[in-house]
Amino acid sequence: MTITPEKIAQFEQMIDKASNIALIMHANPDGDTIGSAVGLYHLLNKLDKQVSVISTNRFADFYSFLPGINAVQIFDYNQKRVKNTLHDADLIFCMDFNAAHRVGKLEEVLNQTLAAKILIDHHLAPDESFFDLMFSQPGKSSTAELLFEIIIATKYSDLMDKAAATNLFVGIMTDTGSYSYACNDPRTFELSAQLIRYGLDVKKINDLVYNNSSEERLRLLGFAISEKLVSFPQYKAAYFSLSIEELKRFNEKPGFTEGIVNYGLAIKGIDFSTLITEKEEIVKLSFRSKGNLNVNRFARDHFDGGGHVNAAGGRSHSSLEETIKKLESLLPKLQSEYYD
Ligand code: 5GP
Ligand code: MN
Repeated sequence: MTITPEKIAQFEQMIDKASNIALIMHANPDGDTIGSAVGLYHLLNKLDKQVSVISTNRFADFYSFLPGINAVQIFDYNQKRVKNTLHDADLIFCMDFNAAHRVGKLEEVLNQTLAAKILIDHHLAPDESFFDLMFSQPGKSSTAELLFEIIIATKYSDLMDKAAATNLFVGIMTDTGSYSYACNDPRTFELSAQLIRYGLDVKKINDLVYNNSSEERLRLLGFAISEKLVSFPQYKAAYFSLSIEELKRFNEKPGFTEGIVNYGLAIKGIDFSTLITEKEEIVKLSFRSKGNLNVNRFARDHFDGGGHVNAAGGRSHSSLEETIKKLESLLPKLQSEYYD
């Protein structure tokens, strides 16, 4: 689904026609969904329209430096306000997610709106029936990269400024692990370079995102690696599990466990890593892989989830112990069934 002149014209028409626009992120927002939503917010705010940004729940503290992030309305904190905002919207942008259930607790409210919906996303298999206009490119490093490519093709490109560029850059930077994966397309770097020209301080942005952890978060990472890593070299697999009790011990806050799963892949010979996190109502699983090992398919087949070939997520309604057992029992299938 490439960016055609027809789709750009439709995109511009839908924005022109709208007077009240809401930008929505996926639940448990990451840098890409935040950067894309808040980045586009800066542009749309320069038009004569009411523009809002919505998140289901709180983002990690280290994203607080992003210009414009204070405008984000959080459903967990003020349900009534967010419901009214979505009810009043005549155009909704779904940023970095492919189906309504990805907004978690906000799903029902989103399903009830009559607003037109535009998808901008890079996840596989979007729910086509839900959107009126779709920009869906799973080959893109990030939604932020796709969004910038769209902006460049529109009449809104002159509205780009340093604040918008900072948000888009953080989207690309975080979704590629600081240009270490999903970034083999030279275009990712060309667009990043264009963003930097708005006057970004890349070193400072890196420090604000990656070298800005609380001590507790770093200690949780240390604990996970030292005490909670289980590896199965025969299956090229490793997993970490964290219980509610363990997370409480480190005073867990949003974003605390982000990145832990990647350390499994840092081990020589390991192609598959999982982080299993116990939540109040479900057990969440994060999958990462190397090469042709398809964790999107694995997450879909066994854990009611999905994502990308090398990064996916899912959930389980069983206990933490049962979920761990289930994962372990599936590991022998990796070699025979999940290498594309
Ligand atoms: P994470 O492990 O960071 O939560 O998610 C990794 C990737 O998988 C992200 O691109 C995310 O959007 C996707 N993902 C995570 N959880 C789910 C899920 O429950 N369903 C689907 N379809 N995708 C998910
Ligand atoms: Mn993304």
